[in-house]
Amino acid sequence: TVVTRFAPSPTGFLHIGGARTALFNWLFAKAKGGKMLLRIEDTDRARSTEEAIAAIMDGLDWLGLKWDDEPVFQFSRAERHRAVVEEMLSAGRAYRCYATPEELDQMRQQAQAEGRPPRYDGRWRDRDPSEAPAGRAPAIRLKAPREGETTVEDAVQGHVVFPNADLDDLVLLRSDGTPTYMLAVVVDDHDMGVTHVIRGVDHLTNAARQMQIYAALDWPVPEMAHIPLIHGPDGAKLSKRHGALGVEAYRAMGYLPQALRNYLVRLGWSAGDKEIFSTDEMISLFELDGIGKSAARFDFAKLENVNGQYMRSMDNADLLAEFRKALPYLPGGADAEARLDAGLWPVFERLLPALKERAKTLVELLESMEFLFTPRPLSFDEKASGMLTPEARALMAELGANLVALPNFSAASVEREVRAFAERKGVKLGQVAQPLRAALTGRAVSPPIFDVLEALGRDESLARLADLNA
Ligand code: GLU
Repeated sequence: TVVTRFAPSPTGFLHIGGARTALFNWLFAKAKGGKMLLRIEDTDRARSTEEAIAAIMDGLDWLGLKWDDEPVFQFSRAERHRAVVEEMLSAGRAYRCYATPEELDQMRQQAQAEGRPPRYDGRWRDRDPSEAPAGRAPAIRLKAPREGETTVEDAVQGHVVFPNADLDDLVLLRSDGTPTYMLAVVVDDHDMGVTHVIRGVDHLTNAARQMQIYAALDWPVPEMAHIPLIHGPDGAKLSKRHGALGVEAYRAMGYLPQALRNYLVRLGWSAGDKEIFSTDEMISLFELDGIGKSAARFDFAKLENVNGQYMRSMDNADLLAEFRKALPYLPGGADAEARLDAGLWPVFERLLPALKERAKTLVELLESMEFLFTPRPLSFDEKASGMLTPEARALMAELGANLVALPNFSAASVEREVRAFAERKGVKLGQVAQPLRAALTGRAVSPPIFDVLEALGRDESLARLADLNA
């Protein structure tokens, strides 16, 4: 059965590229009825933090990318990594290297002077162990093949050939006994039964080196799929401004996890020209050969569009549930939550069908209902105050007087009254409705005005009208 893994280094949030890697691993595992495992690559002790581990797990949770089994922590497996290196030493597939930092530095400098990539020259590869300098701890290096080539057969990148002359004898264990990343990944993938390695194409050269370790251990190599990176809309490396953010930033910007997932799956993968996928569709259509080779471009406008589509097509009850979940993470959300909890949820629910038509994100949805919370007297934006001429204010005072005794303050009943009022005054409905909107919301655009009146209720509506002439 298929086993994939997501293997983040917990040195920061789950960034958007990592989220997409996790998504592809999750989808492929689901598509094949297999498992996606989570491995926390926490061997960089100085930079790995508990907060980052929590943030990564929280981000995966939010996106609905639940991993299978218990997470594996790479650092805790160091004994196993060392034991594997011992075996390689006994089998003659690895050797002790006593080169000093100064010697290594000299090799680097020489390479630089000759304009070629630095490589270890193998000076301890064939030396007799009796030549070991006393009291110096060795690093353990892989006895890598010197001739021929190493080929990565990649489901995305194809047949990628690396001349062995370019790959030096890499370090497996440092002189302080700590395993290197390259070794740890191979041992862990093998021990975890990983059948498919799906990760960023920035790991392609590592893949070649890892293949040499697999070969030295006589272990089967998992299938590889190195996926293209995510670039900015300008084609350059993704910058913060263009989206290189943690997934929690997307939550705070008011994106739905389902919509972000849908957007991410299309970054580098396609199934015909289909753009919107339910989770089941994504799973049933996902194939590695749908992944393209060229870098995907991150585009906020498109993400917003997808998100808006999700919001509009979602059941109101589901959207309400998503909004409630997201609220604490939105700017000003905690305040809004307290006010909604104080009795405004039914009002919000009533307005939601109208509000969601105009909002592309949950943040916009929240903004579009801010008029409900705004304390009196309202301040007016420029357009709204332009509508509130002295004549309009006088008209509003008169209208207010007509609304006081209305037997029922439903949107329909208010609408009937406002229409009748406009007729009596011999003005167009808009000449009443526009200043009314400005007076009640402080803005020139709002949800349907009669819904606004019903939502605010009689007392608040009349008080806002009265403020105009106070
Ligand atoms: N820990 C590596 C990273 O975060 C991933 C290693 C791998 O997928 O093999 O880039």
